[in-house]
Amino acid sequence: MPISASQSPTPGTGQDRTDSPEPTVTDRLVQANAQYAAAFTDPGMDARPVLKVAVVACMDARLDLHAALGLELGDCHTIRNAGGVVTDDIIRSLTISQRALGTRSVVLIHHTGCGLLDLTEDFRHDIEAEVGQRPPWAVEAFKDLDQDVRQSMQRVRTSPFLPHRDDVRGFVFDVTTGLLREIDPRP
Ligand SMILES: [Zn+2]
Repeated sequence: MPISASQSPTPGTGQDRTDSPEPTVTDRLVQANAQYAAAFTDPGMDARPVLKVAVVACMDARLDLHAALGLELGDCHTIRNAGGVVTDDIIRSLTISQRALGTRSVVLIHHTGCGLLDLTEDFRHDIEAEVGQRPPWAVEAFKDLDQDVRQSMQRVRTSPFLPHRDDVRGFVFDVTTGLLREIDPRP
């Protein structure tokens, strides 16, 4: 997740459609969807992932999970956030994934060059100073990728809400080589 600071335009300019006839990025996506839907045929799939696996990964734009893992449409759940960190909300999604939609395996993926490596909890304090309210969530920043993958594996393995905790594996994806490196759960 690359984080670039303070490059957004002044509110009310640039992205404001009333100021400019230029299509926004969302317009572009909607246009692409019309083309997608024109060629789309209902695959008749069940919502239950074919491979019974949930992949938890960072939201980083360079990480194409389906291509990197040889996944097809319908194969898995992909649950993503900043860092691929196992937060309460990730546990919520995993719980639904396992209990309501039949997944049994969990794959955790962090990656080299993650934006969270450059942050600290000061990020929250800075926001508080700016807006007058402290965000209720932890930034979950980390300095050691391998250790954070271990902590994420541990959070999954110790969650009382998850019925399937025996097949949990963690990896670091190298954004320069495309290769996964598996992390030993023992430090
Ligand atoms: Zn990242």
